[in-house]
Amino acid sequence: MSLLRGFQCLTIVRNRQVVLQLTAAGRRCCSSGQSDVRVRFAPSPTGFLHLGGLRTALYNYIFAKKYGGSFMVRLEDTDQSRLVPGAAESIEDMLEWAGIPPDESPRKGGPVGPYLQSQRLDLYQRTAQQLVESHHAYYCFCSAQRLDLLKKEALRSGQTPRYDNRCRHLQTNQVQEKLAQGAPHVIRFRLEAGVEPFQDLIFGLSHHDVAQVEGDPVVMKADGFPTYHLANIVDDHYMRISHVLRGSEWLISTSKHLLMYRALGWQPPTFGHLPLLLNKDGSKLSKRQGDIFIQSFQRDGVLPEALLDITTHCGSGFNTNQIGRRIDELISEFNPSKITTHSALLDLEKLPEFNRIHLQQRIEDEERCHLLIKDLQGLIQEAYTAEIQEKEVLHEDYLRRVLHLRKGHISSLKELVSPVYSYLWVRPSFSHQQVATLSAEAQHIASLILRLIAERGAELTVERLNKDLKVLAKQTKSTKYREVMKLLRLALSGLQQGPSVAEMMVSLGPAEINHRFQKLLLLSETS
Ligand code: GLU
Repeated sequence: MSLLRGFQCLTIVRNRQVVLQLTAAGRRCCSSGQSDVRVRFAPSPTGFLHLGGLRTALYNYIFAKKYGGSFMVRLEDTDQSRLVPGAAESIEDMLEWAGIPPDESPRKGGPVGPYLQSQRLDLYQRTAQQLVESHHAYYCFCSAQRLDLLKKEALRSGQTPRYDNRCRHLQTNQVQEKLAQGAPHVIRFRLEAGVEPFQDLIFGLSHHDVAQVEGDPVVMKADGFPTYHLANIVDDHYMRISHVLRGSEWLISTSKHLLMYRALGWQPPTFGHLPLLLNKDGSKLSKRQGDIFIQSFQRDGVLPEALLDITTHCGSGFNTNQIGRRIDELISEFNPSKITTHSALLDLEKLPEFNRIHLQQRIEDEERCHLLIKDLQGLIQEAYTAEIQEKEVLHEDYLRRVLHLRKGHISSLKELVSPVYSYLWVRPSFSHQQVATLSAEAQHIASLILRLIAERGAELTVERLNKDLKVLAKQTKSTKYREVMKLLRLALSGLQQGPSVAEMMVSLGPAEINHRFQKLLLLSETS
C-alpha cells in the first residue's frame, strides 16, 4: 500500500527513500504549478502560540512551499472547557506576523472548510455513527464514578489506569434500551490487537500495540463533541491532508489513528514526527515562564525572521546551518531527509545575535528599511514626546542615516530609544561646571570643530572625520586626544559613553553639530 497519497510511484516505502522520492515527486508537481502536498498546523486554541507551535507551523509551511503544496491552519477547539479567549485570533495573527501565513484557515476560508472543528460536529457524528454501525465502535454507559473507581484500583495495585472495555460486551437490546431511556453515554473505538507498523518520515518504522496498553478510547464525548483522535483523523481525511508533520509527542497515538483509518476504509496520510524542542540544557520549554510565547518576543522587538532562524538553526532538516537565513533560504535549503530524531536544543541567549544579523539585513533592504523607519518613529515619539526640540529627528532621511550607521551594532530598534542614544533625539543638557572642569581649552576646541564642519559641509563621513579629529587634537596645546574626545562627546551627547565621536557627528549632521557646539561655546564663555 502506498503511504504517500498522490505519489503513485511510491509503492515500497522505506524510511529515507520516502523522503528522497518525495523530493523528486514534489519537484515534478512544482513544475506543473500545483501539487497534491497538503499539510496542516492544527493547534488547540487553549493557549497562545509558543515556540514549539511556531516550529511545527514553520516546518509545515516550509514543506508545503518546497513542494508547491498548500499549508492550512485548522483550529482544534473540541475541548470547549479549556478554550482561552482571544487565543484563536492571536494564533493566526502570530503566523501572519512571523511571515508564514496559511493558504487556508478559519479566517481565510478555503475549499475544505470550515477550519474550526466546533463547526464540523456533524461530520464527526456521522463518522462515529458509521464506526458504530460497522462494529468498530460502541456505546459506553459507564458512569464517571465507575471509571474513577477503576482508576483508583489500578493505581493502588501499581498499574497504569485503563478502561476495562466493559461496554464492548453489551447486547444490542441492552444498548437500545439504555439509549431509549436517554442514559448518558459516550462512543468508544474498539482497539484491535495486531497493529501494523508504519513508516514515519523521521522516526522510521514505528509501531505501538495500543490495545496492549490502553483501554478503548472515547471518540465521542457525552456533550456531543468528538475527542481529539476522532476529529483529527476525520479532518485530515476530508481536508485531503497528504502529510502530517507534528510534534513527536503524537508518535504513540499514530498507531491508534491508523486503526481508525483502517476501520473507516480510508487511506491514511504520511506521518512525520518532529523531534522535541528543548532548552539548551535539555529541560522542557516551559509555557509557564511566559517568555516562550510569540507575542512576548514580538513585544520585545524580536524580528520574526530572527525567531524563525533560531528555531530552525537548533534543529535539523537543512543542508547547511549558518545564521542569517530568511524564509526563502530556509525553503530552498530544506531537506526533510536531514531531519534527525535528536531533540532540538534551543539557546535563547543567542537570540540577540540572530536579531542583530536580521536587523542589519532589514536595514540594508530599502523597502524593509522604510518599515523600520516607521516603527522607529513610533518608538521615538512614545519615548521622547515632550522632549523633542527639533522635529528633524523624526525625518525619514535622518532616521535612515542613524540606522545605517548603527546596523551591526544594535540588536533591536528599541535599543535606539534607550538613554545611551537619547542624544540622537533630544539635545543634551550639561552644566557650566561640567564644561569648565573638563578643559580650559573647551572654547578653542569648539571653535576648531565649527570651522571643520563649515569646511566639510554636508560631506561628513566617519572615516574622514576620524582623521580630521586626530589632526584637530594635535592643534590643541595642552589637552590630550582622549580629553578632546571626552569634551566633544559631552558636547554632542551629554554622555561619557556611546558610539565614536565621528559617528555621532555624522548621524547628527552639520546643522545640529553647529547648534550643540554653539551652546558649548556660550557656556564656556560664561563659566
Ligand atoms: N491539536 C493538537 C495539538 O495541539 C494537534 C496534534 C496534531 O497535529 O495532530 O497538538
